[in-house]
Amino acid sequence: MLIIETHDANETRNAGRILAGYLSPGNIICLAGDLGAGKTVFAQGVALGLGVAEPVSSPTFTLVNEYRGRLPFYHMDLYRLETPEALYDLGYEDYFDSDGVVLIEWAERAAGLLPRELLRVEIERAAGDSADAAHRWLRFVPFGPAYENILMRMEKECGC
Ligand code: ADP
Ligand code: MG
Repeated sequence: MLIIETHDANETRNAGRILAGYLSPGNIICLAGDLGAGKTVFAQGVALGLGVAEPVSSPTFTLVNEYRGRLPFYHMDLYRLETPEALYDLGYEDYFDSDGVVLIEWAERAAGLLPRELLRVEIERAAGDSADAAHRWLRFVPFGPAYENILMRMEKECGC
């Protein structure tokens, strides 16, 4: 597990950008955290690090947005997912078995349908720290050896 502390949106975006440098085709990142925690900001950083030129915003109504970068980037937001069946309609399994990087906001809505191996990133406002509303904790939890490896390499580079 890797924990990074951020003090503004740029630092959270930068953490996503650094992670992107270690990603390869088929990698899956699940973001957890309340509304406004910074999941989309982190996703923008991942997109930036993958060389996506277009602006990235939350795909709330479409469930998934696709971007072209060094690798294809599939950005999902399942906040409005009402039933798991809607995921089947999306053809979600093809995304999990793809040539790109899949990042999912509100992935817990799809619990049970997710692959066993993935990287979970939990973003939390620092508790009891109302004086600094921009203070966040980013907790990276790897499921599977590929993701443990990514975190080890990332930790070495950023000294975090
Ligand atoms: P989510 O996708 O989790 O609902 P967003 O990324 O859309 O949240 O929004 C996060 C908001 O919080 C943005 O307005 C951003 O500028 C602000 N913010 C303040 N501090 C931080 C921080 N440390 N990391 C990420 N976002 C932050
Ligand atoms: Mg969002």
